[in-house]
Amino acid sequence: MECIRLDSSINSGFIDQVARESEQDPYLCYQCGNCTAGCPNNFVYDIPVHRIMRLLQAGQKETILGSHSIWLCATCESCTTRCPNNIDVARIMDVLRHMARREGYVTEKRVKQFNDSFLHSVQKHGRVFELGTVMRFVARTGRFWTDVELGPKVLARGKMATRAHNIQGKEQVSKIINRFLGDERK
Ligand code: SF4
Ligand code: SF4
Repeated sequence: MECIRLDSSINSGFIDQVARESEQDPYLCYQCGNCTAGCPNNFVYDIPVHRIMRLLQAGQKETILGSHSIWLCATCESCTTRCPNNIDVARIMDVLRHMARREGYVTEKRVKQFNDSFLHSVQKHGRVFELGTVMRFVARTGRFWTDVELGPKVLARGKMATRAHNIQGKEQVSKIINRFLGDERK
């Protein structure tokens, strides 16, 4: 396991920024491990979620933002529900992912591509158009044959619309997303 030198690598500004953006107090974590015990994606994480919390208390920005875990989090909120100290851990994971996007630490490019395709669809139609999202994702990642056998089954059962439906007020939704993308580029 990598040895962390707290005298030279602690980044207090990072701890404050995560606390401010998430409106959570990372110092309340006492490492009980309940969040990790309930995390359904722990098996693919490079750093378990309770250890992310400990690294956060220690201001280890590079290690956290460079991890795969923050991109593989499913935002299921099991960690939040299980935390005895009422820390919204899932929200902290969200904030860390946003920070990683802003600062160019994307370790799971396909996850980012999928999120971007989803956002693009909502920005355009005011709601997600599943087929359009999938097609954009496939075109951008070149994964033309992955899960291709599922397409006919899903379409035959009418589970996926073949035409996009726009909602009323989609312009307002688009403005919200533009604001988010603007924040991200700052
Ligand atoms: S929100 Fe993320 S970190 Fe928390 S339990 Fe779910 S997958 Fe794990
Ligand atoms: S459940 Fe809460 S207190 Fe326990 S390790 Fe996770 S964040 Fe820390």
